[in-house]
Amino acid sequence: MARRTPAQTHDEYPDEEYMTTIPRVELEVPEDIRRRWEERGDPIVKYPAEVLRQTAKPVEKPTAATRELVERMKSAMIVARGVGLAAPQMGVSERVIIYQLPEEGAPLRVIINPRIISMKGEQVGPEGCLSIPMLQGDVRRAHEIVVRGIDMLGRPIKRRACEFEARVIQHEVDHLDGILFMDRAEAGTLYWHLPGDSEEEEDAALHE
Ligand SMILES: [Zn+2]
Repeated sequence: MARRTPAQTHDEYPDEEYMTTIPRVELEVPEDIRRRWEERGDPIVKYPAEVLRQTAKPVEKPTAATRELVERMKSAMIVARGVGLAAPQMGVSERVIIYQLPEEGAPLRVIINPRIISMKGEQVGPEGCLSIPMLQGDVRRAHEIVVRGIDMLGRPIKRRACEFEARVIQHEVDHLDGILFMDRAEAGTLYWHLPGDSEEEEDAALHE
């Protein structure tokens, strides 16, 4: 069993500094959690790095540097055993996301300048984030979305996604606007999960 520690939150960021009206939740990261983050040894930027709260810039035209960034994102995501990653989590404030659903043979998808153009329905489920390891909370998301963007060659992409895939995309697109999942978490559902003898419980939630 993992030990559950309620997450302490305090003052919200002032609204006017940010593009959207989602209140930013600030977290107190317990000392032992921070020590465990340091022991993980993955290259992913951890909370409260400022880049995670910035609005990322669009990519004008994918270049060799974009491809190199995507390669670094892929290997970081694999090392951290995540399902999705956004460029700000590598310290790069650009609008690039990748994800790979945890299903046999699922392709790794790259969306540059993603824009969610439609949202339908609702789902509530547990989320976690590779930039805030061991924190979990329930987040309400649209059940079905349509996302547009471009691929690595600059060609337009449009993808309809629902359920888990829709949740992953919404979580990653939020990263590009400096929004973290705890900003949207349902009241009273944010907990630190310290892995105990088994890591199964930590792995139960989505890691992005
Ligand atoms: Zn995340």
